[in-house]
Amino acid sequence: SAKELGITVGTYDSGQDVSSTDRLALLADLQDAFAVDDQILLHLQPAVDLVTAEPTGVEALVRWRHPRRGHLSPGEFLPLVERSELLIPFTRRVLDLALASAADWTASGIEVPVSVNVSARSLTDPTFPAQVTEALRRHRTPASRLVLEITESVAVSEQDIVDEVLARLRASGVQVSLDDFGTGFSSLSSVTRMPVDEIKIDRSFVDEMIDSAAAGAVVRGAVELGARLGVRVVAEGIETIEQRAALIALGCPSAQGYHFCKPMPADKIVQALSQLARSAPANVTQLRTDE
Ligand code: C2E
Ligand code: MG
Ligand code: MG
Ligand code: MG
Repeated sequence: SAKELGITVGTYDSGQDVSSTDRLALLADLQDAFAVDDQILLHLQPAVDLVTAEPTGVEALVRWRHPRRGHLSPGEFLPLVERSELLIPFTRRVLDLALASAADWTASGIEVPVSVNVSARSLTDPTFPAQVTEALRRHRTPASRLVLEITESVAVSEQDIVDEVLARLRASGVQVSLDDFGTGFSSLSSVTRMPVDEIKIDRSFVDEMIDSAAAGAVVRGAVELGARLGVRVVAEGIETIEQRAALIALGCPSAQGYHFCKPMPADKIVQALSQLARSAPANVTQLRTDE
């Protein structure tokens, strides 16, 4: 909202929507952001093996370095992108940045996939699979190195076209991850309807699992579901060592969160991945004696 962005609006006619004025200004700026290098950038966050801390993947999280408003987080501008014709060039930019970064860590011998978040609207765009394939070709990257994260809410709207787009993506070798698992209207039905390669347990359950038996049960259920379906499971938003121990006790294989690594600029990620890989043994000993 305008308030969150720290924008002051002097006077306005009654009936005029302040935030829509603001949205227009931001949309114009966004058009410029594509013309100028470096305004749209990625922060990257590793997902790791919960026991060894070894990297299992890296998620790309978009940022907008606005010339006057500073760093904007996705929540502040994505809704705008998604409602404009900028979505296609935006998605192209994010894929290019993510695949370019993946080439960096591959060159350093760390062969984990890169995860890119996909807007609901892209999944109803019949040209989206070709956009992805072309990005992979531009970067000479095998499709299996790319994970597309989708949220469950997209899975219920316009089901047929979404199913078709996802089927084509998976047929091309791209992996699909169900993001924010447990928060959608139809968590379980989306898993039965479309084959996925990964489930990401929403941060809200990880947050509450220590205090709430119900949240713990959801985590346990998701872990068991993943094991039965042969689907990778990642817990989101792990911040404490207590959460780490609890997740290990429930058999959760991997996690992503501040406890291991905060999202960071692309030029820091290779070093962070190497450090995580090296830090593994000490962490394991500590956790095993705590259990
Ligand atoms: P998400 O995909 O569920 O990403 C996880 C969010 O949790 C990220 O917020 C990340 O910075 C934050 N996070 C990670 N670890 C922790 C932790 O330990 N504690 C807490 N409190 N937060 C943690 P961010 O970067 O603000 O992104 C928000 C959402 O915006 C993402 O949620 C994703 O749905 C969307 N998004 C991000 N990048 C893109 C993109 O390139 N395209 C699209 N369509 N959506 C994106
Ligand atoms: Mg995500
Ligand atoms: Mg998520
Ligand atoms: Mg989330």
